[in-house]
Amino acid sequence: MGQELLYEGKAKKIFSTADSNVLLMEFKDSLTAFNAQKKGQFAGKGALNCKISTLIFKLLNKNAIANHWLKTEDENHMTVQKTKIIPLEVVVRNVLAGSLAKKLGRTDGEVLKQPIVEFYYKDDALNDPFVNDDHAVAMGWATEGQLDLMKLEALKINQILITLFSAARLKLVDFKIEFGVNSAGQLILSDEISPDCMRLWDMDTNKKMDKDRFRQDLGAVDEAYQEVFERISKGAAL
Ligand code: C5P
Repeated sequence: MGQELLYEGKAKKIFSTADSNVLLMEFKDSLTAFNAQKKGQFAGKGALNCKISTLIFKLLNKNAIANHWLKTEDENHMTVQKTKIIPLEVVVRNVLAGSLAKKLGRTDGEVLKQPIVEFYYKDDALNDPFVNDDHAVAMGWATEGQLDLMKLEALKINQILITLFSAARLKLVDFKIEFGVNSAGQLILSDEISPDCMRLWDMDTNKKMDKDRFRQDLGAVDEAYQEVFERISKGAAL
């Protein structure tokens, strides 16, 4: 049902559809890290991320979090509302890891006293630099009202995801989301939510169950993604 390829990213393709307010999003099997300097893939990764994102978007709908998901069409395609993407990556952190642990000279795993919301300017050529609210407003990337709403929604989504993943004995360390503005002018959650854009550790063993397995050459990336899907779908069915 996709018509014209509008955009091809590292892990997704976006097509136009017969409805100018609707896009078709294809989840690819490719996997990239470090701003696409490291490339890989595994068969079925697109389908797994599509299934995991679908489950999460449905759960967010139940919890009244406005988002772009409309329908999952087949194993690796979903239709979504067309949005104008706000050029900010919104990162929520519950546990110190990754770039923040490095920046603060701390080891991974320290539980934060409260969740942190951070903004990064989406620009591959600049390596997505860390920015604050003033940068975003002064550069015209978002209004103060939009930033406040994104923070509020990000923290609500964090709580919903913590509940989902805790039931699956997974610790939600951190994750990245993106927002866009739809044709009605509403700010809504866009993009995908999958192990490609979050850190998930097994609650009992701290085993990494996300894209860090690929970034750090830990192996069995496909098995980890499959296990995340199996564990959360069992939990979601309860
Ligand atoms: O690398 P860093 O620690 O800042 O990443 C925080 C979280 O955001 C991680 O879960 C990572 O997978 C995600 N992220 C992402 N896309 C980026 C940067 C970070 O999904 N471009």
